[in-house]
Amino acid sequence: MSEIVTKKLMLYFPKCECEKPIIYHLVKDYDLIVNVFRAKVTPEEEGFLVLDVSGTEEQIQRGIDFVRTFKVTVNFTGKGVTRDKDRCTHCGYCVPYCPTGALKISDTESRYVAYEESDCIECLACVRVCPYGACASAF
Ligand code: SF4
Ligand code: SF4
Repeated sequence: MSEIVTKKLMLYFPKCECEKPIIYHLVKDYDLIVNVFRAKVTPEEEGFLVLDVSGTEEQIQRGIDFVRTFKVTVNFTGKGVTRDKDRCTHCGYCVPYCPTGALKISDTESRYVAYEESDCIECLACVRVCPYGACASAF
């Protein structure tokens, strides 16, 4: 039996594709487990989705091939939230707001704030509270 893997994807839907039930088909027709982290529709009615898809490599590839039959851009980096190392002062202000510990003080002496991207659920709390604009969302 093939191994089940999880991949993080970002999808961009132009206005013309926004109302199509693409995610529904990923679940129903391609047997993928889809966990939507974040969805946003801009005032121009473009859509952004950050999601995890779980299935075999083959199922995921077939699902992505299906998504690409629409005018949807697929981004594999999953970098919905990034931290700019040059801007971060390690003030620690974001740490108590981060629900998963993706941002945490990793060294009690230096008070270094580490960011573990794989633990980030893209709740955007750090983007809202960082006084230095070090955390940013791709959306
Ligand atoms: S609040 Fe901003 S500057 Fe302060 S530690 Fe967090 S990311 Fe860095
Ligand atoms: S987006 Fe949310 S989970 Fe991710 S690092 Fe920022 S506060 Fe933590």
